[in-house]
Amino acid sequence: MKNLVAIVGRPNVGKSTLFNRLTQSRQAIVTEIEGTTRDRQYGNVSWNGKEFSLVDTGGWVVNSEDVMEDEINKQVLIAIQEADVILFVVDVMNGLTDLDTGVAQILRKSGKPVVIVANKSDNFEIGFQAAEFYSLGLGDPFSVSSINGSGTGDLLDHIVTLF
Ligand code: GDP
Ligand code: MG
Repeated sequence: MKNLVAIVGRPNVGKSTLFNRLTQSRQAIVTEIEGTTRDRQYGNVSWNGKEFSLVDTGGWVVNSEDVMEDEINKQVLIAIQEADVILFVVDVMNGLTDLDTGVAQILRKSGKPVVIVANKSDNFEIGFQAAEFYSLGLGDPFSVSSINGSGTGDLLDHIVTLF
């Protein structure tokens, strides 16, 4: 079976934009409104002669902080079960949140290979903010801008070493 990489993270960090960038598609719905990716989206990525499937998660309607946290955790548990590698997307513009810390705790316990994607690193200065995500205890964050594509090559280079 093809390797499966799952994208997880709280709403609005840019998971669907990253999915679209890595699959070079417009499949996933990107919007300013939180919680608009209704279904799990699957796509294929080919990089340096290696192929993997990518899944975008986060299909839920956000009613409250508690519901949101439960739903994120549910998606994270599914990802831990089915994925070979997990991309944990965080937002450098917004910074570290309690929800990020909660997700990191679950991911650390899972023992699965996790890559922290410090998204919205649109320029060097903001990319520097990624350092704060070292404290999640999941290794080196990869500074990426899913909007302009910067850092995505390095991210893909790293992902394919993890299979
Ligand atoms: P999701 O809820 O995690 O799937 O997030 P989306 O992909 O729907 O993106 C949420 C918002 O963040 C949208 O307005 C995107 O255009 C924006 N966004 C996503 N990636 C980036 C990025 O690299 N830089 C900036 N500046 N905005 C981004
Ligand atoms: Mg989405």
